[in-house]
Amino acid sequence: MTKPAAPVSATPPEGASAWVTIDLDAISDNVRELARRSPGAEVMAVVKADAYGHGLVPSARAAVAGGATWLAVAQLREALQLRAAGVSTPLLTWLYVPGVDFGAAIDADIDISVSAPWALDAVVSAARERGRTARIHVKVDTGLARNGALGQGWTDLVAALGPVVAEGAVEVIGVWSHFALADAPQHPTVLAQRERFVEAAAELRRAGIRPPLKHLANSAATLTNPDAHFDVVRPGLAVYGLSPVPDLGAPHDFGLREAMRVTARLALVKQAPAGQGVSYGHVYTTPHDTVLGLVPVGYADGIPRHAGNVGPVRVGDRRLTVAGRVCMDQFVLDLGAEYAGGAGDEVVILGRGVDDEPTAQDWASAIDTINYEIVTRMSDRLPRVFVGGDA
Ligand SMILES: *Cc1c(COP(=O)(O)O)cnc(C)c1O
Repeated sequence: MTKPAAPVSATPPEGASAWVTIDLDAISDNVRELARRSPGAEVMAVVKADAYGHGLVPSARAAVAGGATWLAVAQLREALQLRAAGVSTPLLTWLYVPGVDFGAAIDADIDISVSAPWALDAVVSAARERGRTARIHVKVDTGLARNGALGQGWTDLVAALGPVVAEGAVEVIGVWSHFALADAPQHPTVLAQRERFVEAAAELRRAGIRPPLKHLANSAATLTNPDAHFDVVRPGLAVYGLSPVPDLGAPHDFGLREAMRVTARLALVKQAPAGQGVSYGHVYTTPHDTVLGLVPVGYADGIPRHAGNVGPVRVGDRRLTVAGRVCMDQFVLDLGAEYAGGAGDEVVILGRGVDDEPTAQDWASAIDTINYEIVTRMSDRLPRVFVGGDA
């Protein structure tokens, strides 16, 4: 069902020390798979945070090519970038503070999430100024206690909607919410949040407001909880081929495949004696005469500093571990006394889980974080190379 991975280190930028390869076909195929798993629901692909580090515009286009009929980003700035690039797919944005330029959102046909009366007032003012109707999705806090209107706040927001909907200043396109423990599909909070969501939508209906779309499911709920699919599913992580529930399954168990690969080239290879302390702080010492390799990426590129002595990489057909501390621009590998290669050899930092290449999940497990953080932290100092799609 999924195509074999595209060739990856095919076209690194000339002389690049390290680069990130993005398989756009993987993104399209992942969206197709997510759509297949949520029949009856549209797919809103979440492309916030530079598409989780995969490159905003190419990733968004690949998601649309795979069947996403909606896109979503946290920040208005990201939404405007998509519009400026000519992406015209319906698009939702939700995180802002007072002073945000809702007029720009309305002008660019960007749907705005509203969680509070102040935001509704600001959207309404911007819409009136333009003589236009703003498209909004009202967000109910069903128990995450993050964004969204909670308890009486929801009742107040619903009450405030009536007149401005009647006036034509806003059109309520969606009602939506977000889970706290979607990765534990049987958890009582998941049931409770779903129930509260249905109730909140009914409260809207009783006020005469009938948004065509209800959406609740992130990646984990899309993959594990059909009861939460409603009209639109809203996956992010899974679009990029990563598992939001690593304890329940690896990406391929869900028909997904990783879109990101991170590769570097050794900058230096040299002999070192036994007992040599390596990198800042000498927290690694060579156990015997060996060959050290210098990898020209560091925490400024997004390699976690916490990965010192634990981060997994692959060189040739061997798994190795970062030797000593990760520095700002570089880290060191103990390649072993028999190493016959030299400067320029490739090091796979993040692979696709095939051929025992380290995955984002392996990095996450090594430093006690989540795969989300591993991919999103890859900085734009690493050039993106796009393969597949119409790249
Ligand atoms: C990031 C985010 C998503 C996507 O979550 P994943 O776990 O990556 O699928 C969906 N909805 C909201 C509100 C988000 O912030």
